[in-house]
Amino acid sequence: MAKLQAKYSQEKEYLQAVQEVLESIEDVYNQHPEFEKAKIVERLVEPDRIFTFRVTWIDDKGEVQTNLGYRVQFNSAIGPYKGGLRFHKAVTPSMLKFLGFEQTFKNALTTLPMGGAKGGSDFDPVGKSDAEIMRFCQAFMLELWKCIGPDQDIPAGDVGVGGREIGFLYGMYKKLAREYNTGVLTGKGATWGGSILRPEATGFGALYFTQHLLHKAGKDIQGKTVALSGFGNVAWGAATKAKQLGAKVIAISGPDGVCQIPDGITDEMIDYMLVMRASNRNKVEDMAVKFPELAKFTPGKKSWSVKCDIALPCAFQNELNGDDAKELIANGTWCCCEVSNMGCTPEAIHTFQSNGILFAPGKAVNAGGVATSGLEMTQNASHISWSAQEVDDKLHFIMQSIHEACVKYGTQPDGHIDYVKGANIAGFMKVATAMLEQGII
Ligand code: GLU
Repeated sequence: MAKLQAKYSQEKEYLQAVQEVLESIEDVYNQHPEFEKAKIVERLVEPDRIFTFRVTWIDDKGEVQTNLGYRVQFNSAIGPYKGGLRFHKAVTPSMLKFLGFEQTFKNALTTLPMGGAKGGSDFDPVGKSDAEIMRFCQAFMLELWKCIGPDQDIPAGDVGVGGREIGFLYGMYKKLAREYNTGVLTGKGATWGGSILRPEATGFGALYFTQHLLHKAGKDIQGKTVALSGFGNVAWGAATKAKQLGAKVIAISGPDGVCQIPDGITDEMIDYMLVMRASNRNKVEDMAVKFPELAKFTPGKKSWSVKCDIALPCAFQNELNGDDAKELIANGTWCCCEVSNMGCTPEAIHTFQSNGILFAPGKAVNAGGVATSGLEMTQNASHISWSAQEVDDKLHFIMQSIHEACVKYGTQPDGHIDYVKGANIAGFMKVATAMLEQGII
């Protein structure tokens, strides 16, 4: 860790993600001298390769714009590179390295054979028209297509990249590669190779995981209040399933503030989240404007200021800090499942764990998204399409398996379950064993 800190002192998010994993696996690592001999950790913390490219496109005013694009192929020990693309103004190589590193362990937890990757651009979708989004996606693919393939590297969505963007990206890929294998990207439209339930999968899977965690702790989600952050694809899926399971979603949020929904979110409001995301306005206030009787907007506040039983960060890394965790606990929150990637700061995780709050990390909780991407790849490779029921059953089974792996590796001598350790050790053991068996490469 000290060596990495000296070498990558500017890459705060990457260092944070690595530190969490290395602390979790320390004891297990020390029990396996063969890992040390093969320098597994030194190899595992470095991406296999990073592609960086310029993306130039023309905006609606006719002006030339230039952004940077990246693909971080992190680890291929257990399968081809797999992970999303993030379009956000704050994207840097450090952010994508942390996400690719996390993805490697998350994908290992899914039970499916997928390595870890991440990519994206500092392109800011906020305020962009559909035509601008299309031209950017096409320009981005002009470079990316050489790096990817259905058996090499399979990108998908992430923050700022949903079904619309995947459509534009795939259209350009086809033209360039003259290859019609839809398995090169996941999160596609349902009529051209996309898996039923892929849009819902991250949020649905997160709620299935939460159910298992609560059940193990002798609790039930029925009737509990849930505060979640964001209003994008992940928050939408989480709100949908939370409501179906009988919980009451009383807060959603955006960069502009929080919307409190004291009587619980309605189906119409959940549908409206999709409209808000597609508008590219990035304002949660729009919910309160549309439903003034049901939702109250407070600018500048987070969902963590709202009294709730369960907190579900669904937006961005480090969106819930130590002070937020303290505020939640003071308001009676007793469970936090991280749905965003690294949504909680180390201080927040420490605060939750030392106060006996049920806490589970993103790489376990949100793995249903990439797992269903894996199911999409399977359907594409065999030229079939499963029903919603079939996909949902498989997603259920995978989330249950991930929960069991966390329990297996995370149960402490005093009987309590450390889900952070459990997820990290389970993912690490699978990747490290594969690396060992494949020799020094
Ligand atoms: N971006 C999602 C994640 O963080 C999904 C990736 C995928 O489906 O490949 O896991």
